[in-house]
Amino acid sequence: MQTRFSAAQLSDPATRAMDAILRKCVHCGFCNAACPTFRLTGDELDSPRGRIYLIKDMLEGGTMPAASAVTHIDRCLSCLACTSACPSGVDYMHLVDHARAVIHESAPRNPGAVLLRSLLAAVLPHPRRLRTLVVLGHAAKFMSTWFPAPAREWLEFLPAPEDCASASPADDFSPATSKRRGSVALLAGCVQQVFGREINAASVRLLNGAGFDVHLLPEVACCGAIEHHLGRTSVLGRIRDNVRGWDRRLKEGQFSTIVINASGCGTMVKDYAHLLSGEPKLAADAARVSGAAADISEFLCDAGFPHAPPVIPRYVVVACQNPCSMQHGQNIRRQPADLLRHCGFSVRESADDHACCGSAGTYNLLQGAFASKLGRQKGAALRATGAQVIASGNLGCMLQIRRYVDIPVVHTVQLLDWASGGPLPSQLSGLMPESSSLRH
Ligand code: SF4
Ligand code: SF4
Repeated sequence: MQTRFSAAQLSDPATRAMDAILRKCVHCGFCNAACPTFRLTGDELDSPRGRIYLIKDMLEGGTMPAASAVTHIDRCLSCLACTSACPSGVDYMHLVDHARAVIHESAPRNPGAVLLRSLLAAVLPHPRRLRTLVVLGHAAKFMSTWFPAPAREWLEFLPAPEDCASASPADDFSPATSKRRGSVALLAGCVQQVFGREINAASVRLLNGAGFDVHLLPEVACCGAIEHHLGRTSVLGRIRDNVRGWDRRLKEGQFSTIVINASGCGTMVKDYAHLLSGEPKLAADAARVSGAAADISEFLCDAGFPHAPPVIPRYVVVACQNPCSMQHGQNIRRQPADLLRHCGFSVRESADDHACCGSAGTYNLLQGAFASKLGRQKGAALRATGAQVIASGNLGCMLQIRRYVDIPVVHTVQLLDWASGGPLPSQLSGLMPESSSLRH
């Protein structure tokens, strides 16, 4: 693609980097067929190729982005299906990330949109604030008829306050429970500490059972993905703190791997190296942190997950949902299904496994109409597998898919943990037997 940046513009390293990305695009359009929003609207401006042109015009113009360009860029899920489909290796992720930051800094949004985006950035990365919001949400249910439809819908799906009461595993350190093979750090996450507290507990049991000590660093909870995808460059402060927190311990040899059990967070931490590459004091540390990050499914596969006792019979049929941030963001595709099969589950993959469920961080809170269409499609495809339970590797996808299916949705590690003798995931309570009863 031909670009027309001025010499002055190209003196800025960020613009130079975007210019290099744009020039790789040969506008072949192969990416369009993979794009969920283009498949919904058929509008070229809702396709990757259309957005690349919009971003090019926006950056070249150097003026306030047009409202229509903002609309089409905001509709992008950052699912990265286009990146997987592109034969030219266009780095769409960093292009759209940059565009979001430019829009955040310079584009006018209506006061309602500004308020909602500020609220999401101020609450979601902070488990205590999020718990408070859950309690307030339940208290406000009696007047929900006055709320807009999306807010009413989300109130229905709020977990009970008692289910959000405590954070993930209380211990900062959990020793291996089988022959020791090493030490890892586990990212506790932010929203996950409130809406998915069973996931971290199952992860710790699995890792301990596989022979790994687990460190939970109280000072590193949120990876920064939520604010980053809202275009807020202020998140770099949090990222620098995370890098310092992890890297000091990596250098001390406390652990060698940072295990991450939410694929959206994994994609983010693996990108720290890029985000801090221009900072001489932290670039090497950030590269070390990104290099040490691993999704829990790839870590367990690489580590050689010990053969589980045949506790779970093969009649438990699981639909394996591969989140976009896992398959397109980290090129992890077979590991979750391999682990589930290894533990005795019968695994099915849905026909549209490459398609986004519409969760995409805060997308389903900001782009409700598109998200619900994609959620319905994903729900129908997963139901069509005939599975009894859906396994995902990302809490955001789990919460989104639960709205569109009538079968339980759990994290893959919860099933692996159950198969390894851990507790039955609460979502399966009454539907499946406890592992202890299967042993006898
Ligand atoms: S597939 Fe790649 S090269 Fe082709 S239009 Fe899309 S981004 Fe550009
Ligand atoms: S990231 Fe997803 S939604 Fe955005 S342009 Fe690419 S394929 Fe389309």
